[in-house]
Amino acid sequence: ETQQKALFIIFGGTGDLAKRKLYPSLFKLFEKGFLNENFAVIGTARRPWTDDFYRNVVTESLVGVSGDKTKIADFASHFYYQSHDVTDVAHYITLKKLADDLDAKYQIEGNRMFYLAMSPQFFGTIATHLGSQNLVTKNGFNRLIIEKPFGRDFESAKKLNDEIANTFDESQIFRIDHYLGKEMIQNIPAIRFGNIITQTLWNNKYIDNIQLTLSESLGVEERGGYYETSGAMRDMFQNHIMQVVSLLTMDMPKEFVASEIRKEKLKALEAIRILKPEEVDANFIRGQYGANKAGTEKAYRDEEQIAPDSMMETFIAGRLMIDNERWSGVPVYVRSGKRLVEKNTEINIVFKNVEKNIFGTSDEHEHLGKDVLTITIEPDERFRLTINTKEIGQGFNTNKTNLDYVNSPETKANTPEAYEKLLLDALNGIAINFAHWNEVAKAWNVADVILNSWHNNDDDKTIFPNYLSGSMGPEASAKLLTDDGNYWIYNP
Ligand code: NAD
Repeated sequence: ETQQKALFIIFGGTGDLAKRKLYPSLFKLFEKGFLNENFAVIGTARRPWTDDFYRNVVTESLVGVSGDKTKIADFASHFYYQSHDVTDVAHYITLKKLADDLDAKYQIEGNRMFYLAMSPQFFGTIATHLGSQNLVTKNGFNRLIIEKPFGRDFESAKKLNDEIANTFDESQIFRIDHYLGKEMIQNIPAIRFGNIITQTLWNNKYIDNIQLTLSESLGVEERGGYYETSGAMRDMFQNHIMQVVSLLTMDMPKEFVASEIRKEKLKALEAIRILKPEEVDANFIRGQYGANKAGTEKAYRDEEQIAPDSMMETFIAGRLMIDNERWSGVPVYVRSGKRLVEKNTEINIVFKNVEKNIFGTSDEHEHLGKDVLTITIEPDERFRLTINTKEIGQGFNTNKTNLDYVNSPETKANTPEAYEKLLLDALNGIAINFAHWNEVAKAWNVADVILNSWHNNDDDKTIFPNYLSGSMGPEASAKLLTDDGNYWIYNP
């Protein structure tokens, strides 16, 4: 386990993400020895905090993390606070001085990790000033880690990317998509390319359809302000769903390295059919939650910070078609929503029926049921293969058997959290689990047509709400599949 020298500069160091994810993850890396004495953190935000106050905040953010008291104190001593308004050039000069001092004090040799944990509206400004005020070092590595959302359509994403690209080249930019840090998402290439049974069957000759569900039970909670500018399409589809679809459908990379994987992911994303405006309604549907049956859960439009006639979608479902030799004719169904039955993220690979049912009997008329490979991402971590077997006892009937593997609670507890893994990857310059600009751009091309078509039809405010809190979304979501003779495998 190599240890890295690095100075982290965290913009938005007093924010929610920094406290909930970044400090605990950095501590884990420190505890495990990936970061050691040659390491320091500068937290910045507008508030005037002292180093001591900041170190207390960092220490408090570790409450849920078991750790030795001395180790935690040692860790916290590496943290420094700099009050900083990201739009004020003079503040970057102060910041540079502190950065250079800490670099010398901790013998960091110029390695810098710039983490932008604040509103994306400032990403361009920060990146520009980091360059113009020479915070980017000549020796050592300089990496920019940025959070979602990356734009709100292709145009704004491109503008943002151009601004960042003035200071950082693509190899220095690490765009966080935390789904790519999840254990079971990282398992997709292992499952696909490490096994002859999956590798040979992973195409339109044997796969009938693919389903991806990202279901949340919570509503918007306190994040209404953000959600009103986003919605499910921008919050879940453009980034997480498109990334997972690309991993599920890409061809095998020549080598398991970022450059080859990104090449294949990009090809897969390019093959996803971009709908014509008139095709949108037949392929993508949107929903917004109403109250639950009992009336104990509020409708989206009654939540805090939400417009009473909001047309923002809290649910999406769609059918993606992929125009290449491997996938032609195989629908990829995706859906995501808030206030659904339960929290669950799950992939279902639905295989075709065997051509002939020689047994004659079965639960599904003349056909035996389809085999399904299920990969559950969270909260459970599970592989399940559902296959046809003989029913126990006299005679000969077939039924379904689940071959199951579930990660135990202990295994899960000992698995590093997504942010911990992604931070370590970024520290080591491994870009496999970060989104390349070209991928982000392609995903926007697919999403933009759908969003435009929807929002051109926003005049009719009566279409929402169209599903009950605690259901699996609007009826149109089920219809999308029944129209094709299919159904959602995950149906709680
Ligand atoms: P937050 O509002 O809690 O924190 C924002 C931080 O930016 C604060 O430290 C604030 O002081 C600072 N800030 C704001 N304006 C500033 C200015 N002009 N100059 C200097 N500092 C300024 O936000 P957050 O929830 O931590 O989110 C940060 C980023 O992470 C956003 O891009 C968000 O979309 C993304 N993100 C957050 C979460 C999450 O769970 N919180 C999840 C995914 C992505």
